[in-house]
Amino acid sequence: CGIVAYAGVRAATPILLQGLRKLEYRGYDSAGIAVHSEDGIKIYKQEGKVANLVDSLGDYQGDPKHSESHVGIAHTRWATHGPPTTKNAHPHPAGNGRIALVHNGIIENYRGLKAKLEAEGRVFLSDTDSEVLAHLVDYHYDGDLALALTKALKEVDGTYGVACMSEEEPGKLVVARRGSPIVIGLGDGETIVASDASAIISHTRQAIYLDDNDIAVIQGGKVDVKTLDASPVQRDIADIDWSA
Ligand code: GLU
Repeated sequence: CGIVAYAGVRAATPILLQGLRKLEYRGYDSAGIAVHSEDGIKIYKQEGKVANLVDSLGDYQGDPKHSESHVGIAHTRWATHGPPTTKNAHPHPAGNGRIALVHNGIIENYRGLKAKLEAEGRVFLSDTDSEVLAHLVDYHYDGDLALALTKALKEVDGTYGVACMSEEEPGKLVVARRGSPIVIGLGDGETIVASDASAIISHTRQAIYLDDNDIAVIQGGKVDVKTLDASPVQRDIADIDWSA
């Protein structure tokens, strides 16, 4: 349903939570965030309102896991595969937590992919189609998250807006789209990604709208867009037109 992601110099958690609140109007059944902390990727998720998620974080402003974390991804879920529970909320981890991923849309061929991955001994924690994509990225991961996501997306039928990160590449976000919008807001030394410009406009009005089959690598304020067949592309920087 809704995606927010941040890479920059500010603490990621408050920006992700604020972004999720801006997306609440679209409807959702659960919410979650993943942030890079000093001891790896931390995932927090809750069924119900964003307020439940915020409550479950307690005094996050004073917690170095949050105040020292400058990269993260977040999601509000509208369940299509699996009931609206905490375990089915995004982000989904894979590879003992070295990968975290959020997904909007539907992976049509998830059953076959899941069976293949389970046959290799992978254990799934949720009922979602999205978790299959997280494992597929981990399956292909060899130190290059953009390459792993590219390979994973080539095996997938269906629609996606996706954002992911790897413990081994702590400053980096990789995002992609097919049939589900991704907007990349360009700030000053920082980048705020969302599925909907309403989560970006309080930070910046300069944005890149990904086309279908685009993949973008983001590090701080640096954004590098390619197509899934690895051709570099120049996407226009648009002014978000929003009178709010
Ligand atoms: N198909 C995914 C799920 O059920 C994502 C749904 C969404 O777009 O929120 O978890």
